[in-house]
Order: sequence, then C-alpha cells, then structure tokens
Amino acid sequence: MKCRYCSSELAHTFLDLGFAPPSNAYLTKDDLAKPEKYYPLKVMVCDQCWLVQTEDCAQADELFDSSYAYFSSTSRGWLEHAKQYAEMMMQELYLDQNSLVIEVAANDGYLLKNFLEKKIPCLGIEPTASTARVAEALGIPVLQEFFGEKLGNQLAQEGRQADLITGNNVYAHVPDINDFTRGLKAALKPAGTITLEFPHLMRLIEFNQFDTIYHEHFSYLSLNTVSQIFNSVGLRIWNVDELPTHGGSLRIYGCHEGDAQQTLPVVQVILEMEKERGLQDLSVYRAFQEKADAIKNDFLQFLITQKKLGKKVAAYGAAAKGNTLLNYAGVKSDLLPFVCDAAAAKQNKFMPGSHIPIMKPEALFKEPLDFVVIFPWNIAEEIREQNSPLVQAGVQFVTAIPSLKYS
Ligand SMILES: [Zn+2]
Repeated sequence: MKCRYCSSELAHTFLDLGFAPPSNAYLTKDDLAKPEKYYPLKVMVCDQCWLVQTEDCAQADELFDSSYAYFSSTSRGWLEHAKQYAEMMMQELYLDQNSLVIEVAANDGYLLKNFLEKKIPCLGIEPTASTARVAEALGIPVLQEFFGEKLGNQLAQEGRQADLITGNNVYAHVPDINDFTRGLKAALKPAGTITLEFPHLMRLIEFNQFDTIYHEHFSYLSLNTVSQIFNSVGLRIWNVDELPTHGGSLRIYGCHEGDAQQTLPVVQVILEMEKERGLQDLSVYRAFQEKADAIKNDFLQFLITQKKLGKKVAAYGAAAKGNTLLNYAGVKSDLLPFVCDAAAAKQNKFMPGSHIPIMKPEALFKEPLDFVVIFPWNIAEEIREQNSPLVQAGVQFVTAIPSLKYS
C-alpha cells in the first residue's frame, strides 16, 4: 500500500488491532442471528511524510453502509465549544451579512446555527441525510454531498467561495486527503480563512489513545504532516491552537499561500515540540503496540477480577472508542453485561463485535452497581456530573485510557 498523501510505499506498522467490525455498525436484535463482517484494523506510518493511516482493506465502501448517524448536538460540552468558536471567528474575521461561512461535515447544524443567529450567511455540506435534515430544519442551507475538489470548484464557479471554511473532526475521516485539501483551496475566497480541528497524533501517542483508532478514521495527524499537505496545494498554515477536546486536538488556521497574513511563531513552536517528542522518529511509532497491549490487558484483568469478586460492572457511552477497546480486548457481555447511552438511535441495539446490549441511562439506576466504565473518556467529567446520584451511592467510575483509573 502507498501513502495516501505522498504515495511512498508504506513499510512500517504503527498498531495492529487484529480484526474488528466497523465501529458504528450497531446491531439490531435481528442482526444477531446473522453473520457479522470483520475487517483488518491495522495502522501504518509513512517514513517520508509521517502520515499515520489505516491500511486499505477490501470492500472499504461497506464500512460506511451504516444506518446509524452521529448527532453532534447530543454533547453539551461540544455545543459550548462550537458556540465559543463561532463568536471568536465572527469577531476576528469581521464577518457580516456579506460574508459566507461554509462548514464541511455540518452534521446537525450544531455550529452553523451560531452564525445563522447573527444573520451571517452560511452553507453546510453534509452527506448524511438524517443529520442534514435536522440542520435544514434550523434554517441552514445544506448541500447533501461529499466534499472534495469537484465540489470546491463548483462552489467557486457559482460565486460561492467562503470567507471562512471550517471543518471539525472531518479531516481525519477523509479517505482522499489530497482531493479534500484541493477542495478547500478551491472554495476559499482570496483573503479567506480555513480552520480545521482534528485530534493531535502527538497526544494520541503520549496518552495511549489507541481506542481512537477505527476503520472510518483514516488519518492520525500531526501539524508537520498537515503543513506539508496544505503547502502541496498552495495553502499555508499561519496559526494553530492547542485544544483539550478529544484528548488533545489542534485547530489549524490556513490561508492561501500568498496571503498577507503572517505566519505566527506558535506554528514553529508546535512543529519543534512534535520533533522533540519523536514524531519524525520511527522508534516512537514502533513502541506504541506494547503500550496499547498493556492497557488492553489491564482493562481485561480489571473486568475479570471484578467478575470473580462478584461485583457489578456496567458501562456508559456506546462510543466508537468503546468498540475498539472491547473488540481488541475480546470482552463480551459475560464480563460487561450492558452499556448505557443517551442517544435514542443507539438504545435497544447491540455493540458491534461484543454484542453487549445498549440501554437507556436510566438502566444504571435499576440495580445496585459497583463500577461504571466510561468509554468516552474525553467527556468523563460531563458524564460523572450527569450521574452524580451514582457517585453519592458509592459507585466508582472507571476509565481505561491513558491508564486504568477508578474513583
Ligand atoms: Zn507519506
């Protein structure tokens, strides 16, 4: 296989998680009587551009043949994050009624609604029909398409280039990152700004976040690699923020190569930091499998120990992260009888691979529990607060990443 960005031959494995079903292929009761498809889940690193990427697997299109859709508005913390971002950009870019804001992967309108409220014209791009409909109901115009060079050119021809193009947690999920980036270039006004947020590979390695790896997540990105990709299409990164979201993300600010905007010193600071942490050193990538295995083993040992002691354990958050961890550890419902989730679309379904049933959050209160494992550790505090009666009842909350912890 060749690198998705620079086409070099990929020779180095970063992490091999064996075989797993697609992480968002939640099963119905009927599905449990049918065979389930597993795909290799292996991540490679390119020793030329340092793009970390999932290995191509056969019938990859089927991975997206899922009826389940993620609705961004289900997390309160994420809504607040989006609102603060929108307010900051409106001020800094002097956006007004003559501006255009485009969001790629606009989801259910959780972000663009903040611009709409201030009467700033916006356009959402969202291929998933169920979420796009929710955004449209808020009054946000939505193009139900995948974004890339073709759509970028089309928008430019229609005079719909943007002052601000934004994409949160979409860049890492794009199979053809070069085509997507050319689309950003095409759809951007001459003095426009692009911002993208994505989990920072440096933090993934530092905090052992191997559970953020799943098939639909094609790329694991550093500032160094994203800078190269931007430069290759005539874009330039001039600013970058480090964010606490998703266990440590970057928000990069891009412009056309020749834009008058000067590149801020923070860009060089983070590039240097990545180099110091060994992100251009193969040994750092080669050491990761052992770290992931240790966490998997600790988690499994915890569940087995509690089972032997007769303790009751359940889980909260039927997130993709949980599926990666459960399937790699080979956990089934004998060790973890159920998981709760606030999203109605997941309730009464089963986790792919492990077949652990998904219930409403109220199920946590039906019988006395000793431990609740939180899979989306990035919002563990929010979940703890929502379930404070459990804390008062003496239930301990457990997170497996970056290392097994309960309190
Ligand atoms: Zn490469």
